[in-house]
Amino acid sequence: MPGPVSAAANASLPDRLGRPLRDLRISVTDRCNFRCIYCMPKEVFGNDYQFLERKEILTFEEIARLARLFRGLGIEKVRLTGGEPLVRRNLEQLVDLLAKIPGLDLTLTTNASLLKRKAQALKAAGLKRITVSLDSLDDAVFRRMNDVDFPVAKVLEGIEAAAAAGLAPVKINMVVKRGENEGSILPMARRFHGSGHILRFIEYMDVGHTNGWRMDDVVSAREIVEMISREMPLEPLDANYTGEVAERWRYRDGGGEIGVIASVTQAFCRDCTRARLSTEGKLYTCLFATQGHDLRALLRAGTSDADLREAVSAIWVKRADRYSEIRTSHTAKLEKIEMSYIGG
Ligand code: SAM
Repeated sequence: MPGPVSAAANASLPDRLGRPLRDLRISVTDRCNFRCIYCMPKEVFGNDYQFLERKEILTFEEIARLARLFRGLGIEKVRLTGGEPLVRRNLEQLVDLLAKIPGLDLTLTTNASLLKRKAQALKAAGLKRITVSLDSLDDAVFRRMNDVDFPVAKVLEGIEAAAAAGLAPVKINMVVKRGENEGSILPMARRFHGSGHILRFIEYMDVGHTNGWRMDDVVSAREIVEMISREMPLEPLDANYTGEVAERWRYRDGGGEIGVIASVTQAFCRDCTRARLSTEGKLYTCLFATQGHDLRALLRAGTSDADLREAVSAIWVKRADRYSEIRTSHTAKLEKIEMSYIGG
């Protein structure tokens, strides 16, 4: 849930479709220690792949300055992502800087490979909650999907460490790709039913242009809900707030809730209040954007806070993106920004 918003910070800034700026996703690194087949396939992100150099990426101070400015423009929530955010050294120092911004809801998405040893420090630095990505409980399926032979058991340990550290409720995101892991839907639902963690299923999307996406690969949110509900009956829940990406469902037996993110079959562009800041400081107004706006150049040219705020406002008010509502097999082939770069 968004934190309390001061009157000053509640300056609603509508884009061309009337959508305010409420959320900021910050990619803290374009690197990842996984090579998920649908996100950073090895054939593209191999040993010779050119990741950003240190001097190109925003420093923690630059990120925190931008986050403060965005807070002043109405942002209520920041999600740290990547790449894999926990591979950025001393990430807890950034969390500490961001946690000091009043009224900001701060969260992070991770593959949990490093979470067991980082959970306490992240919590102590002021992180509120966490989302863990996990695509299967079946070790063979999971290892095949992350493509670096990473075992499920270690992710589960990370999830428990996060809950024990107080980063609860832990959200667990599972991307479903037909032919890869739809057989893992029910085992995942059974495992997290009654656990206090919130499992969310994500429709496989045509982000970037390296994953060879086809509509046939998408298992729809509707199918997923029906499959689970046949075994463990579900009923719909109201959204926590306007613009929440997950559609919420509750187990009728009191076993908690799940979410489905139907970004392909039931696009939610009309409620999208998210901006994305890439690792090198480009601002994107849509996950499917092809071009960003270079805020790093402004930061490093000594631009004042007032002028930076003005620049961001000018970008947002011109925003008319609604890619998922106009997606076709043709648009899916367009050259888009990779998710590992723009931040998932
Ligand atoms: N490394 C972190 C992680 O694993 O959560 C954060 C970055 S990752 C890009 C963020 C989320 O995007 C993950 O849950 C991942 O499964 C999801 N994702 C990546 N590519 C996707 C795609 N093509 N369709 C749907 N979700 C995708």
